Amino acid sequence: PVRVRFCPSPTGNPHVGLVRTALFNWAFARHHGGTLVFRIEDTDAARDSEESYAQLLDAMRWLGLDWDEGPEVGGPHAPYRQSQRTDLYADVARRLEEAGHAYRCYCSAEELEARRDAARAAGKPSGYDGKCRALTQEEIVAYRAEERTPILRFRMPDEPITFTDLVRGELTFTPENVPDYGIVRANGAPLYTLVNPVDDALMEITHVLRGEDLLSSTPRQIALYRALADIGVGNGSVPRFGHLPYVMGEGNRKLSKRDPQSSLNLYRERGFLPEGLLNYLSLLGWSLAEDRDIFTLEEMVAAFDVADVNANPARFDLKKCEAINAVHLRALPAEEFARRLVPFLFPGEEPTDEQRELLSRAAPLTQERMTVLSEITGMLGFLFVRPEEFRVDEADAAKALTPDARPVLEASLAALRDLRQFTPDPIQAALREALVDGLGIKPKHAFTPLRVAVTGRRVSPPLFESMELLGRDETLRRLQIALE
Ligand code: GLU
Repeated sequence: PVRVRFCPSPTGNPHVGLVRTALFNWAFARHHGGTLVFRIEDTDAARDSEESYAQLLDAMRWLGLDWDEGPEVGGPHAPYRQSQRTDLYADVARRLEEAGHAYRCYCSAEELEARRDAARAAGKPSGYDGKCRALTQEEIVAYRAEERTPILRFRMPDEPITFTDLVRGELTFTPENVPDYGIVRANGAPLYTLVNPVDDALMEITHVLRGEDLLSSTPRQIALYRALADIGVGNGSVPRFGHLPYVMGEGNRKLSKRDPQSSLNLYRERGFLPEGLLNYLSLLGWSLAEDRDIFTLEEMVAAFDVADVNANPARFDLKKCEAINAVHLRALPAEEFARRLVPFLFPGEEPTDEQRELLSRAAPLTQERMTVLSEITGMLGFLFVRPEEFRVDEADAAKALTPDARPVLEASLAALRDLRQFTPDPIQAALREALVDGLGIKPKHAFTPLRVAVTGRRVSPPLFESMELLGRDETLRRLQIALE
């Protein structure tokens, strides 16, 4: 059975690269009817935070990427937060050392740096040189006398490591390029290099799909899995790896956590739909078919195959992301669309039944005109503000509510005041008659001041429908205010 994991470190805000990784693992698990393990790699107390942990869970829930084992869900390998598993790592570290797969390294940071510089200067590989691999008893005694505190270092095998990457094919790393590496700090704290493979082994992970930036750690981890198998940790098998392509941002640089457009929160605040964002992110390395950019998550799950992931860097394109979101927005059933608008129109509060009902009548007027949900405040805010809080946009007013507009507003007031039926067709007919026929004004010029007076902006949902939704009294009141 397929078992994959999503194992972020809770540092900072979730970013889109992380979401892409989560998505591909999720789709792979769901495609194969497998298990997605959500594991929190919080072994770096200096950088991890509870806030970031909470954000990660919240992000996954918002995206709809559900996990089968992990925080809040539990599972046979609990706990799923590495900060709660330290005893286990200490035990594995001890056994690795006893079996000769790891050794204590007494080299100081300064010594390591000096030797690294010398190796570089001589054009030799600059990784750890193996100095502490085979210390004599006297050397150890001498180091201890100096009160050096050793780190634990993993002993890499002396032969090349070859594996078949699910995305990139066969890769070989030679020993010179993969030196021995630290797995436990001098203060006893286990490092990512140890805990990540240990948990993969214990949690019986079968496939590791992760970013290309982690490719260089893969040969080290494969050697460690083999050592773990040797000492009986896990079920003895090594997961298969697939490294997802880099995501490039502006100016062909790697999209970094610091790029504002990489922050997931930005997309939530702007009102991307999770399904729109995920559809776009899936295209960063994968696609359903050459000519299909738009699809649902179910379609992705049905078709997803790691072998189809493209090894070439993917370019993050905000415009395309928006365009795809707009398509998903339009595809929502009307009631669902209205429901998703609620947090944007009524942040932090519950709309009344009346407001809900107004919203479900108004929402369809905007659905075709929007890219992201946050645009709704500009579009429908005029309907939901309390009358005394209604303001017209100043710039739009300066352009549209000029002295020339007075006769238009006056004639409209007169035409609408006694209109028998205050619905779009009669409203339109009455206004045309009063303004276009009566005053001889072109429709474009006639309706802009009305639009600004009534909706507050030059861009709004259709005018006559807007008036109907607003109701006669409030429409007349706003026209009146615009004249004052
Ligand atoms: N916790 C690691 C990270 O955030 C995950 C590494 C992995 O996927 O193996 O980069």
